[in-house]
Amino acid sequence: MARIVMKFGGTSMAGTERIRRVAGIVKRQQEAGHEVAVVVSAMSGETDRLVNFCREADALYDPAEYDVVVASGEQVTSGLLAMHLQALGCKARSWLGWQLPVRTDDAFSKARIESIDSPELLASMAAGEIAVIPGFQGLTADNRVTTLGRGGSDTSAVAVAAAILADRCDIYTDVDGVYTTDPRIVAKARKLKNVTYEEMLELASVGSKVLQTRSVSLAMKEGVRVQVLSSFIDETAPPADSLPGTMIVSDAELEGLEMERQLITGIAADKNEAKVTLTRIADRPGAVAAIFSPLANANINVDMIIQNVAKDKGETDVTFTVPGADLARTQALLEARQEAIGYTRLICDSKVAKVSVVGVGMRSHAGVASTMFRALADRGINIQAISTSEIKVSVLIDEDETELAVRVLHTAYGLDGE
Ligand code: ADP
Ligand code: ASP
Ligand code: MG
Repeated sequence: MARIVMKFGGTSMAGTERIRRVAGIVKRQQEAGHEVAVVVSAMSGETDRLVNFCREADALYDPAEYDVVVASGEQVTSGLLAMHLQALGCKARSWLGWQLPVRTDDAFSKARIESIDSPELLASMAAGEIAVIPGFQGLTADNRVTTLGRGGSDTSAVAVAAAILADRCDIYTDVDGVYTTDPRIVAKARKLKNVTYEEMLELASVGSKVLQTRSVSLAMKEGVRVQVLSSFIDETAPPADSLPGTMIVSDAELEGLEMERQLITGIAADKNEAKVTLTRIADRPGAVAAIFSPLANANINVDMIIQNVAKDKGETDVTFTVPGADLARTQALLEARQEAIGYTRLICDSKVAKVSVVGVGMRSHAGVASTMFRALADRGINIQAISTSEIKVSVLIDEDETELAVRVLHTAYGLDGE
């Protein structure tokens, strides 16, 4: 007998028929003799709908109240799945974030899980009850509702798996694994049998939304075995132990599994970035700190940063990217500090995309970046900013050219499948 956490995403939970199917998959897993906890997302589109209500209420909405609103989508699906399981004759109950509780910090709208209380949950599972847990939601030390950032149910699932020492965390979604790039953009994308935590972490952090970034770092830290697989399987499909998903593995494990390692693991795109430029800032110590300290204090993550070479008058332009969802707040914070920072113009552009190539293999290979720049140049795609890490190169481009860039790079690095 194994203890398994099964997570179902928004598309898998979208409506009565889909939830009934999910209940069937869960039931079969239990019938195979396993203890099962299920983590669910809201129905697809629901969280977007709720986010829009918040925006309509106030462009600079209170993040704590935003969390109260957007956490509700998962409450609905967890109750419904418990009902469907009961209808199939299973014992099942829902456990809302506050009932476990899932404790988080108070970074509303992007909270981090600090602990999950599991004794009651484990007792109920040991008694044969299927636990249905709404993903995405948590509770601060002073009992205010939080959410974990978009896509956060993946992180809830991994955190539950770590808390109950599960043997595996299966992430069921609408694709049957992790591919070399989004298979919805590139039809020739290839499915990866295995991917390392490190590569998956980097792919997720640059926009492969198949897993939330934090879920991967948490799995890596806690040693949770994560598998990505499709929930769109029929009644006769084999149990999850033999379904052909993608397994996230350690470096050492991968070496034992695959003889030859690709230079590039995958390509990701992120359209949720926004570019901010401040012109004519004094080129002196402290100028950049004056821009980024207020953003850091407001929990706004700055990603790519470029500071241009100072012009004659000792002035410089600074360009950086922030998550699109934080653009309005970024703009408000910077406008309020125009004098203190001493810039001339604030220019915002949300019509940009970040395209990245990721691969552990690039550590020992030169020329990865130049292949990228050449391939994009050949198609007339202009690069607005660049950032690199040991295993990744990212470029910022016009949003309209995203799909073209991903396809061109997929071919340029020899990743195209049949
Ligand atoms: P869920 O609602 O199940 O959490 P998501 O929409 O968050 O599903 O994530 C699954 C989607 O991730 C897929 O439909 C696919 O379009 C996208 N995706 C992006 N990059 C990749 C990749 N490299 N491999 C597989 N899917 C990817
Ligand atoms: N429902 C949330 C979202 O859409 C969390 C999730 O689906 O993982 O972001
Ligand atoms: Mg998701």
